[in-house]
Amino acid sequence: ETITIQELANRMSERGVDVIRLLMKQGAMHKITDVIDADTAQLVAEELGHAVKRVAESDVEEGLFDTPDLESDLVSRPPVVTIMGHVDHGKTSLLDAIRHANVVSGEAGGITQHIGAYQVTAPNGLPVTFIDTPGHAAFTAMRARGAKVTDIVVLVVAADDGVMPQTIEAIHHARAAKVPLIVAINKIDKPDARPERVRTELLQHEVQVESMGGETLEIEVSAKQKLNLDKLLDAISLQAEVLDLKANPTRSAEGTVIEARLDKGRGPVATVLVQRGTLDVGDLVVAGAQWGKVRALLDDQGQTRQDAGPSFPVEVLGFSGTPEAGDRVAVVESEARAREITEYRERQKRDQAAARGGSGRSSLSDMMSQLKTAGRKEFPLVIKGDVQGSVEAIVAALEKLGTDEVGARVVHAGVGGITESDITLALASGAAVIGFNVRAHKEAREESERVGIEIRYYNIIYNLVDDVKAAMSGLLSPTL
Ligand code: GDP
Repeated sequence: ETITIQELANRMSERGVDVIRLLMKQGAMHKITDVIDADTAQLVAEELGHAVKRVAESDVEEGLFDTPDLESDLVSRPPVVTIMGHVDHGKTSLLDAIRHANVVSGEAGGITQHIGAYQVTAPNGLPVTFIDTPGHAAFTAMRARGAKVTDIVVLVVAADDGVMPQTIEAIHHARAAKVPLIVAINKIDKPDARPERVRTELLQHEVQVESMGGETLEIEVSAKQKLNLDKLLDAISLQAEVLDLKANPTRSAEGTVIEARLDKGRGPVATVLVQRGTLDVGDLVVAGAQWGKVRALLDDQGQTRQDAGPSFPVEVLGFSGTPEAGDRVAVVESEARAREITEYRERQKRDQAAARGGSGRSSLSDMMSQLKTAGRKEFPLVIKGDVQGSVEAIVAALEKLGTDEVGARVVHAGVGGITESDITLALASGAAVIGFNVRAHKEAREESERVGIEIRYYNIIYNLVDDVKAAMSGLLSPTL
């Protein structure tokens, strides 16, 4: 835990220069924007005659999330589905087709609104919630922020194109999140569709579909001709049943912000996926560093609702500011509590930003020490290389390095430059990123600096393997 000198001075209502002067007396030169650790801050505060009460996140946010439910309060909840797959394989078309088919037959008859997620009814009468942003970027970005919203990934593979790089990426992203896949082989209406080829290619990436003797459900669909959409929904329901998804609807609500924006007329609007409990109009909610009193709830048809239960996506009106996608949402009992929590988070955000401005970058060896303290035995890596052959050679070499105590785990390996999506995946998985004869894209480089993920470049496999080995044995010098 750290704090900037400015922030410390503010909280004590002292002048920044006085804090700096005091630190100088103790032999340390500082600027007002510098970050000091909690112990130093406490010494300073006491020296200046302040009583110190250290507030840890666990105190401020105590009881906000994950308080246990009684087994007897749990009831089945709908699955939350994200659609992933290679570009142009039909993710958007499929999302539209599923939604459209349902609206036409539905009784609500409202005008569909894009709010970031929607719910439809499967042929068996059970609801299914879809996240309306296809692709793994949003999925992994959320996961990187600690939000787990997706229960099932539908992997769309075009039957005329087969398994492509982003198909493989999607498989790895889903696997890293331990979320089961259902394969939708799309575009079977096309004359050059070859669904068999898709099955065989998937096998090469350890996705074994049912018809090949595996456990992964597969449906041949056409988003264009709206073929087999009901079968896909049934498969999702079936998978959901296997997962035995449950939540307590009778407690105060918890959820995640899926999308948020500032609306000219309505003010901040956040789409919240409720994950436990029931969100009611009038509830006091916090989301990230924002809070508000729920003024209205709207579903994906633009209809107002009094409440929203588990797995239901709703637009929430009433936030004082615009929260961010991925922010966790909780109901609190009083305005004072809402303010306490959001002010605390605001401070934390500032402190963390300040800390990153300093030397917040993590190195391979930092990561190893974290892994050690967490008692983990895997060393996660994201690997990008120039050609398939070298990527395979690297993965094979790294997998051989493992000992009883620690081993490399390749979260994702692929051909091409390092992308922003690689960085988010690394962040979500606590992985280091390695480039072999490739560079990082500009956005990826910026993102890696922003979030403090280290990218390391190599052009000799031996050096790469050697460094990872050294990092794994905790021998890597921290300055690398
Ligand atoms: P995304 O990039 O994965 O979201 O793919 P889109 O949904 O934008 O679809 C890419 C292209 O494939 C569009 O031109 C669609 O019309 C077309 N497409 C999508 N699904 C089907 C299908 O089932 N059959 C055929 N023939 N074309 C499709």
